[in-house]
Formats: sequence, C-alpha cells, structure tokens
Amino acid sequence: MSGCLKVLMVGAECTPFAKTGGLADVLGSLPAALRERGLDVRVMLPKYFSIPAQYRDRILYREFTYCSVGWRWQYVGLGESIHQGVPCYFIDNEYYFGRQGPYGYDDDAERFAYFCRAALDILPHMGFQPDIIHCHDWHTGMVIALLHAQYADQPFYRDIKTVFTIHNLAYQGNFAPVVLSDLFGLGNEYFTYDKLEFHGRVSFLKAGIAYADKITTVSPTYAQEIQTPAHGERMDELLRYRKDDLCGILNGIDTHYYNPEIDPALSEPYSAADPAGKAVNKQRLQVEMGLPVQPATPVVAVISRLTSQKGIDLITQVIPQLLSENVQWVILGTGDSYYETMLRDVAHQHPDKLALRLEFNEDLAHRIYAGADLFLMPSRFEPCGLAQLIALRYGTLPLVRETGGLRDTVRSYNEYTGEGNGFSFAPYQASDLLFTIKRALGFYKQPEVWQSLVRRAMTEDWGWNRSAEQYEVVYRELCSE
Ligand code: ADP
Repeated sequence: MSGCLKVLMVGAECTPFAKTGGLADVLGSLPAALRERGLDVRVMLPKYFSIPAQYRDRILYREFTYCSVGWRWQYVGLGESIHQGVPCYFIDNEYYFGRQGPYGYDDDAERFAYFCRAALDILPHMGFQPDIIHCHDWHTGMVIALLHAQYADQPFYRDIKTVFTIHNLAYQGNFAPVVLSDLFGLGNEYFTYDKLEFHGRVSFLKAGIAYADKITTVSPTYAQEIQTPAHGERMDELLRYRKDDLCGILNGIDTHYYNPEIDPALSEPYSAADPAGKAVNKQRLQVEMGLPVQPATPVVAVISRLTSQKGIDLITQVIPQLLSENVQWVILGTGDSYYETMLRDVAHQHPDKLALRLEFNEDLAHRIYAGADLFLMPSRFEPCGLAQLIALRYGTLPLVRETGGLRDTVRSYNEYTGEGNGFSFAPYQASDLLFTIKRALGFYKQPEVWQSLVRRAMTEDWGWNRSAEQYEVVYRELCSE
C-alpha cells in the first residue's frame, strides 16, 4: 500500500475489543471498508483490561516510550494486532486502562488526556506516518488541539491533517479549567471562548470541533440539527461558524457480521430469499425469554441504552396501554436506574407479556433482532442510530421517531403507494408513538403487506460502500489543499 493515503483512526471503542454503543461498530467496520478502496487505514485505541481474552492474547508488544501528562511521566506501551486485515494499535498503560470498562471513572479526564498525548508521542515510533489523523468523539478531541498547539512545528507532524467525527454531541467531556495546565501543560491563552473554554469548563469535544481541519457527523440530518439551538447542546454557534467544514456522512453496518444467513448467534439461518427461518427464530426467542410461544403474536423489541435520549420514557408510557393487546415485548438494555426499575416492575407484573434483560449481551441482541417483528426506536435525538439498520437487515421492521439518522434511513410505510421500509412519527409524544405502534400492528395482521415489507427491508443495502466513498472524498480534499 505504499504511496496510498494513510489514515490513523483514534477512538475509545472498537468492536470486537471494546463496545458500549455505535461508536464501536463504526471503528470496527469503517476502516476495513476504506482499506477495500485502497487506503491504508489503521486504528488506535486503549488496551483495556476488559478486552475479551481471545483478542487480548493476540495483541503483540511492539514498542514503548514515555509521555508527560502535565507533571506526570507515564509509560506508553504499544501493542498491535491485525483484525480482519486492519492493523489495530493498542495504547498500554495498566494504571489508566487496567479496568473493567472504557468509561465512568472519576479520573476519565486524566485517562483520556493521557490517551491523546500517548497517541501523538508514540506515532514516530510506529513506522507509520499518517497523512490524516481521524479522531472520534470527545475522548480524542484533545489529540487535535495538542497537535495544533504543541506539535505542528515538528517536521514529523507538520503536514498531518485532521478529521473529527461527532458521534454524539451530548457527550462532551467537559472538565474543570485546571486540567489545561495540570494535564496538558497548556497556558490560559487556550481558556478562551474561541478555543477550549466552554461555559466555564474545558471541553475536550470542543477541542476537536474548534481545531479539526474537517468535521463530520454521522448523518446528514444530524449535521443540520446540531447547528440549531434545539439540538446544538450549546455548541450550535461554533458549529454554525464551522459549517463550511462540516458534513454529515451516514453510518453503515458490517453486513458480514450482521447477516442472518451466517450469524453464529442464531441456530436457524434465514435470508430475504428464504425467510422461513425467521419464524423459527421467533419461536426460540419466545422460549429463551420465557414468553408464551405464540407464532401469531407480534413481538416488539427494544435493544438500547436505557437513557432519556432513546425515548425510553415514551416506551414506558405506552406499554401499559398495550398490555390488553395481543403483543409481546422483549427489552434488552442497561442504563438509568429510574428506567430499569420502571421496566422491572412491568416485567414482574406481566411476565407473559414483557421479557426484560438488564444487561449488555451481544449474542442475545442478535437473537432478538432475528426473532422480533417490530423494532422500536422513538429517540428524542439520534445522531445516526445503528440498531434500526441492524433490525432492517434482520427483517425486523423499525418504528422510529423522525430525527437525525432515523429520518435519513427509515421511510414510513405508505399504504397508497406501497413505499416504505418501516414506520415513523414526528412529535415527541407518547400518543403519537402509541398511534404508530397500533398502525404497524394493523399491518402485521395483513401478512402479504408485512412480508413484502420484511423482504424489502432485508434487501436494502446499509453496508459501508457508499459512506466509505464519501469519507475518501473528505480525506482527498484535505490532502490536496
Ligand atoms: P448508541 O451508539 O447511541 O448507543 P446505536 O443505535 O448507534 O446507539 O448503536 C447501539 C449499538 O449497541 C447497536 O449495535 C446495538 O445492537 C448495541 N446495543 C445496545 N444496547 C445493547 C445491549 N444491552 N446488549 C447488546 N447490544 C446492545
């Protein structure tokens, strides 16, 4: 691949090593799609203790150096593993990453300050000089600010361009002002409105937005929404200022990994051409979840973080109103204890109607995508959303709220033209969700309509090809500047 465009993607999650949401799916599949186009794309992430043993054991030690985290002097180990043809680099430091999950620790500011510094300092030791560093979300925003502030005059770094992708503007990595000097050795001149200051705090997300050469986000609609006060999470003014460098590129999914024809998590494969196995998966799902085995009862699924972003409050409002209907619910998720408790109560009172699993379980998620009929995603906001794309791939019709990437991927069924691949509604109200679920359930009773929608959903292409092409355009534009 000598002579081709070289890109280093830096992020906090990447399947199959570490995942809490869609960010991991993107880092785990976009690089391979870009490599297929002839780009030399590599990935860098922390070497968490929680990386499953079968992948952890394959990480080979490559190099080490030391880096400063403010006044601290820290070890930086570099591991490497080739996963599905993509070289993946792991920053190894047990003090920061020898933990069970990626985030949620009191010292997250210091951990990701270290990760950003380590990523930059290890680069000259890697034998790989990227043309572009592509950073993802707040955890890596400071790579870009540091590159600009402290590295740009060094020959090795001088020509490196940067791309910053916002996967979710709501997660900003905002910390006390002292982190500037304490973790980065940056002076107060960086604590200003046009730089890293954000409502009295230092924002790692803002660092990426303010200093990146190009900014992308994960759907065209979200790219527009975040420039408005309603969805801008108080960054809308800066995003409007940078609008000429901002674009929305829809996420794709790994259509090999999410493929009901060969999915090892399923005991009965099926496809659009031969969909009979979906009914078998439904029956097995009902057994696995302890629900009555009723082939004609629609199974409505939710697989989600249980947070207010995902519209869980709407779901908890409509469930009681649908308990008298012939419907079963399967809900898989973890999140706010408020929602967990509420759902646990309903599951406890109606075990034959609602099966709940409060855990993160990848294999079970696949079996739910395969066995359910309808997939609910009534998000308050949704940068892109991958779950609805996976549901489409498994022939489980998505029912979504028209926001962000949901609006760009789900077309509500139109009974007059026959157009559509799911169901949708616009106002963020339980009554609209309820109406739309009832509408979908009405079509479920018309097997011909339902089956033709299922077939259409399964044959749509939500792979990475189209989007990888758009990322390549962004990279090439930057390198020709
Ligand atoms: P977000 O990144 O905002 O959480 P996305 O829809 O973009 O939402 O991606 C969510 C991803 O995480 C999907 O692959 C979904 O299947 C998966 N997921 C969410 N919750 C769970 C869970 N409890 N168990 C297994 N997979 C989950």
